[in-house]
Amino acid sequence: MHCSTCKNTQLEPQELEPGLIVASCPSCSGALVSLMNYRFWADRYATAGGVVESANDAQANESESVHSCPKCSRLMMKYQIGPQTQHKLDLCSACDEAWLDKGEWQLLKRLDLQGKLPKVFTDAWQRNVRKQRQEIALNERYEKLLGEESFSRVKEFRDWLLQQPNKDAIKQYLISHQE
Ligand SMILES: [Zn+2]
Ligand SMILES: [Zn+2]
Repeated sequence: MHCSTCKNTQLEPQELEPGLIVASCPSCSGALVSLMNYRFWADRYATAGGVVESANDAQANESESVHSCPKCSRLMMKYQIGPQTQHKLDLCSACDEAWLDKGEWQLLKRLDLQGKLPKVFTDAWQRNVRKQRQEIALNERYEKLLGEESFSRVKEFRDWLLQQPNKDAIKQYLISHQE
């Protein structure tokens, strides 16, 4: 198998974590992870109480370019990791293989996702990331509009309001007493 980014470079077996062998590119440090192998590893990792060495601060690469699967050459699909990062993981659903760019495994560890890799590839996960992104964007817009101090007051009030059993009555009061 060859790296889809470096074309002529042959992928080599590498131990990503003790007991988790992946096909890694010696040139760009990308890695092809078989999700079947990963699930075996993650099961044992969970029963072992999660003894993965902590993440180092290696910078993660992000290639916006589309990867083709090193195994079957089909185009891989991109999946958002989370609202706090622009990084995406690539998946070939036909082979059940994921491609991690250099540093992305470390990134998953920093986000405490090292035991949940297949979840990232679910619709529910992707929907949730989009929802959280929209929420962050909305907050940023209102923070700009209202200013930092007012916005933090409004947010505090909102958090309080949402916990009130009679919140609908409070909202109605606010709406009908606008002047
Ligand atoms: Zn490569
Ligand atoms: Zn494939």
